Amino acid sequence: MKNQLYLICFLLISVFVTAQEHEHQSSRTLSFPDIPGYKSLKTDLHIHTVFSDGYVWPNIRVMEALRDNLDAISLTEHLEYQPHLADIPHPDRNRSYEIAMAEAKEHDLLIIHGSEITRSAPIGHNNAVFIKDANPILQDKAEAAFSEAKKQGAFVFWNHPAWHNQAPKGNPILSGFQKERIKNRELHGIEVINSVDYAQESLALALEHNLTIMGTSDIHGLIDWDYTVKGNQRPITLVFAKEKSIESMQEALFAGRTVAVYNDLMVGKEEFLTPLLQVSIVVKKASYIKNTEVLELELENVTSSDLLFQNESEYSFYDSSPVFEIGAGETKKVSLKTLAHKDEITLKLKALGCFIAPKVQPIIQWNIKTD
Ligand code: ZN
Repeated sequence: MKNQLYLICFLLISVFVTAQEHEHQSSRTLSFPDIPGYKSLKTDLHIHTVFSDGYVWPNIRVMEALRDNLDAISLTEHLEYQPHLADIPHPDRNRSYEIAMAEAKEHDLLIIHGSEITRSAPIGHNNAVFIKDANPILQDKAEAAFSEAKKQGAFVFWNHPAWHNQAPKGNPILSGFQKERIKNRELHGIEVINSVDYAQESLALALEHNLTIMGTSDIHGLIDWDYTVKGNQRPITLVFAKEKSIESMQEALFAGRTVAVYNDLMVGKEEFLTPLLQVSIVVKKASYIKNTEVLELELENVTSSDLLFQNESEYSFYDSSPVFEIGAGETKKVSLKTLAHKDEITLKLKALGCFIAPKVQPIIQWNIKTD
């Protein structure tokens, strides 16, 4: 009986602790608002299972994605590297996709058919997604693999180009191979965030060669163990699609409409990151304190990322440091000294954790009507 009581107390405490944790960023549920004209699809297009060098069965990947509130995933098994082959022989390289499809059938989660083309440097690792059949992409020559992926209409991106195993300085090395693939329209994107690593040098390459900016978990173990229990969220790519469908998502990726997100880091082209941040903060209140020219604002962060800002407005703050954070889902009150009563003001904030180019953070403007 005593043991049972202990157990009940322990369970109650666990539930309480879990509920507390979930109020902050360690909550694994990801959410971002849609931007004008597009749906913001939350996607992870670099994932492994036991069918290559991962440690879990494909159905677990589907369940994890549902817990994370993702819209789309791709299981991108290495075609050429299968350490579990002796235990899990599978001549058909589409098996992982098929198992995930069966698991996702009852759910609103898009499963994108994909594979990883794996070579040593300078070719490196590349994911082909929106493929039709993984088997013919397994080729001796990398050139032939890319050409087959193109034939299938695949969107192909360069994985972790800054990975120190392949780029010892930790900076991407763009070789003749990539240049040729870009020219042939066989390489369309590049990871700037891979698992916990962000390389601004990869972002520079994305901008220079007009490659789509990607962020992925590259998960091999469990999302829970590798990210959630460490207080992190899984890295994702937000894809701005006309609707939630595979075709629409593919169109958006070819068009480069993405923002890569990892915790409070967001990386994207200005034309997409700026509107995303604009709708990420909702002005809930703007009214003057009675008999003063001090304007009180309530700013709500409607995303699952903590956002760090620096005041760049014409007006200084009355009551806050000019550098401040609005936690995920939280509302921050700030007061502006507008010096005279204004019917409308412009709030300008620099998003310090967000990058539109190496070392360049966007300044976001909100035109606010006051009460
Ligand atoms: Zn991989």
